[in-house]
Amino acid sequence: MEIIEATAEYLVDNMTGLTGSAYGVVKPTDLAELVDALTFAKAQQIGVIVIGANTGLSGATLPEHDELLIDLSGWNKILDLDEATGSLTVEAGVTLNQIYDYVEARGYFYPPDPGAKQATIGGNISTNAGGMRAVKYGVTRDFVKALQVVLIDGTVLELGSINQKDSTNYDLKDLIIGSEGTLAIITRATLKVIAQPQVSQSILISFDNLDLAIENVAAILKTGVRPASVEFFEREGLKYAEIYLNQQLFIEDGEAFILLTLDGNLEQVGQEKVLIKNILKNSRTQVDLSEQQAKIAWQLRDNLAAGVQAQTIAEPVDIVVPTSKITETVKYLKAIAEAEKLEIVTFGHAGDGNIHALILKKSLSDQLWQKSLSNYLEKMYHYVNQVGGLASAEHGIGTLKRPYFIKHLDPNLYSLYQKIKFAFDPEGRLNAGKKI
Ligand SMILES: Cc1cc2nc3c(=O)[nH]c(=O)nc-3n(C[C@H](O)[C@H](O)[C@H](O)COP(=O)(O)OP(=O)(O)OC[C@H]3O[C@@H](n4cnc5c(N)ncnc54)[C@H](O)[C@@H]3O)c2cc1C
Repeated sequence: MEIIEATAEYLVDNMTGLTGSAYGVVKPTDLAELVDALTFAKAQQIGVIVIGANTGLSGATLPEHDELLIDLSGWNKILDLDEATGSLTVEAGVTLNQIYDYVEARGYFYPPDPGAKQATIGGNISTNAGGMRAVKYGVTRDFVKALQVVLIDGTVLELGSINQKDSTNYDLKDLIIGSEGTLAIITRATLKVIAQPQVSQSILISFDNLDLAIENVAAILKTGVRPASVEFFEREGLKYAEIYLNQQLFIEDGEAFILLTLDGNLEQVGQEKVLIKNILKNSRTQVDLSEQQAKIAWQLRDNLAAGVQAQTIAEPVDIVVPTSKITETVKYLKAIAEAEKLEIVTFGHAGDGNIHALILKKSLSDQLWQKSLSNYLEKMYHYVNQVGGLASAEHGIGTLKRPYFIKHLDPNLYSLYQKIKFAFDPEGRLNAGKKI
């Protein structure tokens, strides 16, 4: 087992610029080497953090206690497609891009669609990643049938199965999903794949302001139409992705946008398109996107966060609120930004109430940034709690949201979570200090 020095890519959080320090990095090539690494960490009494593609937005891979980092990005083999049960088995380091290319070439569809397509499936499962198509298809959890995991003591377990139903046990597979590398190491996953929809049509609609865009999303969803994805963003935020990708959006009027995709069979998509166009109020431009235009529009949307990340330190926000509260929440986020003299970019998965905001540091001094950001987050998470929302919809709690998550957590639940953590990891060495 070779331990290499941890370079900046492992020690600096991409979005916030926070830094940590690590014992070193190992890149095991198989289960035996992974178990060796865990045995070594136990002997040294050091913590362990598993790394996928390191695209996480909650600081969950940041080493805060000189941990040994276990990089599984090399575990990138697609192992099996069982067409009879629609089950795709992959190693944990396989990326979303690999999965899409593989299944689409065979007429299948893996719906979860988070922005960072270079992320690994192990990372996606550990954060229960959501993404654009969650509004119709659900999140990563809905597409995980089985997992192979390794516990901190080296025990290898198979959880879940390819059966359609299961009423046999405590559902440990579902407990691992979303556990942010704090309970076990995922080494292999069996995913559900479905038939590719016959057609997929993206539509871009522009508005004078974000309120109008969000009101129209609510009106669209009320018709019963279930788009595969419905995103909102503003021109102000879009410019970061445009600069980053050196690519302009092709609509010149309007300050806020809805980008949605309808999929299914030809007739159904045609009917849904008419329904949507009849319901729209006060829109500026609506374009049925060609395949090439759709590719550009979605690339820009996927790269909003990456565009900001390339230009300034930022705090990523991933709150979810009841869909009836989206407009007022976005207004509130903007109002507190103004009060704290902070710049923010807002966008999100409008169909499911998941609002993303990036709070930008820009040229603020470190001291002012810390103070204003802390005021902002206190107010925001308090508000989110009051309206019945949650601190994270899809990025996870990690390090960044932990104080706010715990502050609003029922102490009885917190105590139960700690007992669960203890059952898996009695010495508290697996991604310690993250999540709970
Ligand atoms: C531009 C951009 C857009 C994004 N858009 C979205 C989006 O739309 N929706 C969304 O949900 N997220 C989004 N994200 C966040 C990020 O891509 C996801 O959180 C993703 O699931 C992380 O995968 P990863 O492989 O990079 O994991 P990492 O960042 O390496 O790790 C994330 C967490 O998973 C744990 N982990 C990783 N692999 C394993 C494993 N094999 N076993 C156990 N634990 C493991 C880590 O310890 C850590 O806690 C975006 C990120 C970026 C940069």
